Amino acid sequence: MKPFAIDHLGIAVRSIEKALDFYERQLGMSVSARETVAGEAVHVAMLPAGESRLELLEPAAADSTVARFLEKRGEGLHHIALRVPDLGAAAARLKEEGARVLNEPRRGAGGHLYVFVHPASTGGVLLELIQDEQETSH
Ligand code: ZN
Repeated sequence: MKPFAIDHLGIAVRSIEKALDFYERQLGMSVSARETVAGEAVHVAMLPAGESRLELLEPAAADSTVARFLEKRGEGLHHIALRVPDLGAAAARLKEEGARVLNEPRRGAGGHLYVFVHPASTGGVLLELIQDEQETSH
């Protein structure tokens, strides 16, 4: 496994059902998993795309971060998620170097550990770093 594989691209939508009319029915992709991540107040649908995935995000509450994103920016690309071999070390190093890491490592969709890095540090895109589970399952 090469480092920094793109795990998924997060796309904010107002309605997963409506978005799936395009991604599933018209385009022919398939949903591999759906869940609600309570900690982020978001409904998630994952669509495998090669080694990577598309992650459709629909707000589960009016005051969630995805709801605020939709209000400000409308539907669209919300974040890019990269897998890293050692998430704790990566987050600690970024903080030391002055990057704006937005949370301590925690469990998100699919039970994966993640942190978000603010767009101000990354060239304008919200960046999600995900623990590469294959590196830790020993
Ligand atoms: Zn994500």
